[in-house]
Parts: sequence; structure tokens; C-alpha cells
Amino acid sequence: MDSTFRFLYALSWIGLIGGLMVRFITLPPRGWELAGYVAVGAVFAYAYAQGPRRAPRYLVHGAGLYFLLEIARSLNRDVEGWQFLLLGPWIPAIYVLAAFAHPVAAAWRYSLIWTLLLYGLVAWGLERREGSAILAYVATALLGHLTVASLIILLARFREMYGQTRFWREQALTCTLTGLPNRRAFELALSREISRTERYGTPFSLVLVDLDHFKKINDTLGHDYGDELLLRVARLLVDQVRREDMVARWGGEEFALLLPSTRAEDAQRLAERLRQAIEAQSLGVTASFGVAEYMFGEEEESLFRRADQALYRAKNLGRNRVEVAE
Ligand code: GH3
Ligand code: MG
Ligand code: MG
Repeated sequence: MDSTFRFLYALSWIGLIGGLMVRFITLPPRGWELAGYVAVGAVFAYAYAQGPRRAPRYLVHGAGLYFLLEIARSLNRDVEGWQFLLLGPWIPAIYVLAAFAHPVAAAWRYSLIWTLLLYGLVAWGLERREGSAILAYVATALLGHLTVASLIILLARFREMYGQTRFWREQALTCTLTGLPNRRAFELALSREISRTERYGTPFSLVLVDLDHFKKINDTLGHDYGDELLLRVARLLVDQVRREDMVARWGGEEFALLLPSTRAEDAQRLAERLRQAIEAQSLGVTASFGVAEYMFGEEEESLFRRADQALYRAKNLGRNRVEVAE
């Protein structure tokens, strides 16, 4: 959570509690009204405990309940009709909260339920007191609110679409088994790294990792065990590299490492460390590594071909070793 967000979040709570206190002091609760305050306070406290992400979900109902309490209180005290009007500008807060907290359908549902409930009570109370002029006010207010609600729900729809886009983009770039970036994500990162190298002249290296005799492991110990092994190797690789390095699931039992600002000698040293780390885990699997440093002006395919040839050499020379492309 960044500091602006934290500040605004704190501010919204101060506004909420402050508003509640003002009303509490100017019209002190009596009898059942006090129980109403306790109930509202409990919902707010629960919402607060849920943290900033989930709080709006409960605040929708906390706010609805609170407005209901205030309207009922006003009716109970036989206050002047204009006092009800004060609530008018506050009721849209429910739409804002609903739009923040819920997908469109639920945001609609909760907004409508609370609006009808609240204005129903106001209309019922006012009708008994002041006649049709006030009823006209309520009708106008209702229509005004309908407009505000529609606009805000439109916003909720945008938020939902944005969430979906982000979700699918993440899905499209992630391997479901290991949670690592997938081949597509790696290719995107690689082409960016190539542009950077072409522009600034900083070196980088590519390392391809292929687990040895993995087919045999699957065949003897089962595919589930193989999956578990892939997950462990993935974690080990991520743990051992720098934060700015990228580890991706390149294929079935193949991983690819993108090492920015790293020359072949350093990439080789890292690969050797990884090779030993995998061996030391006694997982019953070893890995072969092909290392290639990017050469200026080279195409992506050529870099991969050289790394792959190095890997192929490592396999041919007996596996569980690191080979570097010339
Ligand atoms: P080597 O690389 O040492 O030459 O032998 P290998 O047996 O690893 O060779 P190869 O690359 O031909 O086989 C890869 C095997 O990896 C095939 C498949 O059984 C297994 N594999 C690929 N993807 C997965 C996966 O997602 N889960 C599991 N459990 N196994 C997988
Ligand atoms: Mg393979
Ligand atoms: Mg293999």
C-alpha cells in the first residue's frame, strides 16, 4: 500500500467516524437508538478489521444500516421535515461503496435495495407529516439518485473490465504449475533486453536448463511426482538468482534464465552454482545447462540456437554439466 493510498484510506475513516460523532452529539441517542448505534458500530468495526481491500464490501451495509437508523431516529423524535433532507446528499455514498466493492450485478442489487429501503422510510415518514410537497421532493431526489447510481455503476463496470483484462493478461503470461513466467513472457522480456543492450551496450546472458532423464523419472515415479519435482526446481532456481534476473518455464522440463548485465563467464559461474544446488538437494534429478552471451546485432533465434547447442553439448558430454556457447 503506498503512502497516498494509506493517507486517503485513513481520511475516509476519519470522515466516516467524524460524521457519525457529530450526529451522535447533536442528537444523543436514547433507548433502542443506542442499540442501533452499537449494531452500526459493530458492522464498521468488522469492516475495519477486514482491511482496506475488503472493507468496502461491509461498509455498503454498514452505511445503509446507519442511514436507516438516522431516518428512524428522526421519525421517532418527530423532528422537522427538513432534517430528513440532510440525509439526501449522503445516500449516494452507498453507490460509491458498492461500486468499489462489488461486481456490477451485486453493486446494482445493493444500491437498489438500500435506496428503496431508505427513501421508502423517508417517504412514509414525511407523507404522514408534511403532505405532497415533500413527496415531490422525494421523487425528485430519487430520480437524481438514479442518475448518480447509473454513472457510478458505469464506473464499476470499467473497474470490472480492467480487473478482467489484468487477470487474463497475467494468466496468459504465467505457467500454472510453477507460477513462473511462461515462454511468451520470457520472449517479451528478452526482446526488451535485446533493445536495451543494442541501445546502451550492456551485456546480458541467456541460460537454458533441461532436467536430465526426466522421462524416466515420470515413468518410474509417476507424473505427479514429476510435477512436484518441477515445482521444487523452479523454487530453487528463483531462490538462487538475483531479483533482476528472470526465471521462466520454457517448456515441459526446461527453464530459461535471462541474466541482465551478465557476461558469459559470470553466467557460467551462476549456472554451475545452480547445477550443484540441484544436485545437492538429492531430489533424484540433475540438470544440464547451456549458456550464451548475447552478441551485438544478433537475432533472438540465433541467441537461442547457440544456447541450445551448448545445452545439447552438455547432454552429449554426459549430462549434469554446464556448457558455454562460443
Ligand atoms: P534428457 O533431457 O536428459 O535427454 O532426457 P529427458 O527424459 O528429460 O528428455 P526429454 O526432453 O525428451 O523428455 C522430457 C520429458 O519431460 C517428457 C515428459 O515426460 C516430461 N515432462 C514434460 N513436461 C512435463 C510436466 O509438465 N510434468 C511432468 N511431470 N513431466 C513433464
Ligand atoms: Mg527437454
Ligand atoms: Mg530433459
